[in-house]
Amino acid sequence: MDSKRIGIMGGTFDPIHFGHLVIANEVLDQYHMEKIIFIPAGNPPHKKDSKASSIDRYIMTNLATLSNDKFEVSNIELIKKEKSYTINTLLVLREIYKDAEIYFITGADAIIELPNWYEFKSIIKLCKFIAVTRPDYNTHEIKEKIQSIIDIYQGQIELLKVPMLQISSTEIRNRIKNNRTAKYLLPEVVEQYIVKNNLYGDNNE
Ligand code: ATP
Ligand code: MG
Repeated sequence: MDSKRIGIMGGTFDPIHFGHLVIANEVLDQYHMEKIIFIPAGNPPHKKDSKASSIDRYIMTNLATLSNDKFEVSNIELIKKEKSYTINTLLVLREIYKDAEIYFITGADAIIELPNWYEFKSIIKLCKFIAVTRPDYNTHEIKEKIQSIIDIYQGQIELLKVPMLQISSTEIRNRIKNNRTAKYLLPEVVEQYIVKNNLYGDNNE
């Protein structure tokens, strides 16, 4: 029998949007995965990488994934005081899902950065990667980049074509800051949460 496949979707999710959800769902479907685990990145107080707090990003990710019983959200990286590294997260997941194949999902922009990830050499032994297409990133160049990473590190990185949505969290934050609409770029409930809690406004820089 084939072993179970688990997808890992890492990100800041500041905020989560339809670009994230569509790629997670596409991977779930095309790879016949058991589930996709969304893992919002931690936000150590001394090095603030995100605009919204960890708890707000965690809540928004839960709201956005609520209606899909194959989407899960993990707080494993958020609860850490220190910076959390993917390698540590993967080691924990490997313990929990001993026999599963773990696939880490990344957008084309993130693939370029992979070799700079802390302990990447070990990471690529613990999981496989699925690189999904993203608007503004040339698929041919991404293919070459993937090949060059495989040549050096071995391991498995597959390119997956997904419906491309030109949406980014940065764009959504800018729109909200400038009182422009972000409707239909992210789930309505997440947009409502942002408005209700006054996230990404002028005072939140
Ligand atoms: P920001 O603008 O703040 O960087 P983002 O939209 O890139 O936000 P992240 O949380 O940084 O979102 O991304 C998490 C993962 O999702 C990354 O691997 C990223 O490449 C991927 N991703 C995000 N948006 C898209 C999209 N529209 N299409 C394909 N992949 C995406
Ligand atoms: Mg990004």
